[in-house]
Amino acid sequence: MELVLEANSLTKTYGRSKALDCLTMRVPRGAIYGFVGKNGAGKTTLIRVVCGLQAPTSGEYAIYGVDSRDRKIAKSRRRMGAVAETPSIYLDMSAADNLKQQYRVLGLPDFTGVTELLALVGLGDTGGKKARSFSLGMKQRLGIAVALCGDPDFLVLDEPINGLDPQGIIEIRELILKLNRERGITVLISSHILDELSRLATHYGFIDHGRMVREMSAEALEAAARKCMRVTVSDTAALAVVLDGMGAEYKILSGDKADVYAKLNVTELTLALHEKGCEVRSIEERDESLESFYLGLVGGERDA
Ligand code: ATP
Repeated sequence: MELVLEANSLTKTYGRSKALDCLTMRVPRGAIYGFVGKNGAGKTTLIRVVCGLQAPTSGEYAIYGVDSRDRKIAKSRRRMGAVAETPSIYLDMSAADNLKQQYRVLGLPDFTGVTELLALVGLGDTGGKKARSFSLGMKQRLGIAVALCGDPDFLVLDEPINGLDPQGIIEIRELILKLNRERGITVLISSHILDELSRLATHYGFIDHGRMVREMSAEALEAAARKCMRVTVSDTAALAVVLDGMGAEYKILSGDKADVYAKLNVTELTLALHEKGCEVRSIEERDESLESFYLGLVGGERDA
């Protein structure tokens, strides 16, 4: 698995407080990596460090396998585009002029990509309208377009949906999916809203107090957090036979407990078990939402 970004024991201290505390992180190529943490958890600090805006106090990171202390890191960083929480755009310029300005900053003399880039982010029809009068969502999309000017294959977005209305959130989400699927861009997206990330992320990193609490794939998170029925019976061997017959997915937890990942007809199940001499003691629905899974992770022991 090729890693676009890898961080090891990354620490950033401000006086006595640690914004990053021995953080490890692995962002695989092609991923939409949801970087989740409460306000003040250290997300922005990590992003600023990997963008080269701040030096870590200790530890290291690598971008496309190039160590942060290697001179070639500047070249690797050119493959990255980043948008801070407040996109750095010129409010008194049109969308097209903002992109042209960025092309100039990057030393790219040819503006032919501007029209395509504006169309890509859904700002193709904004004409001479100044960015000042754009909605927050439009400003965010313009910020993303500016970050795409250097044709990066790794895009870093710090809280891109903060403060957006539902329509704005959908537009950003669709844009990120398009960039990832159609252009193969790896995306690191930070947010404190796990539910929103769950619609696009392929991988997650949960940060709390500057530490990586857990990294996991979207499938692993879904399996850990999905709804299930906790069934307690006198004999799980008999339960397994009945559930197999129903084609239900399940996990035997002990001699008398199992989690069933299917909508069960309780009467049908009870009758079928009764025929096998197996008694049903309880059936309870367990509804672990992503959010409560996350709170379970970061609300418990820090090193859990
Ligand atoms: P938010 O979603 O609120 O932006 P975050 O997860 O991005 O939160 P950071 O901005 O990285 O968190 O902040 C992590 C910690 O470091 C916080 O306790 C913050 O107060 C502290 N911090 C960040 N920048 C500085 C600074 N320049 N000087 C002192 N402390 C700082």
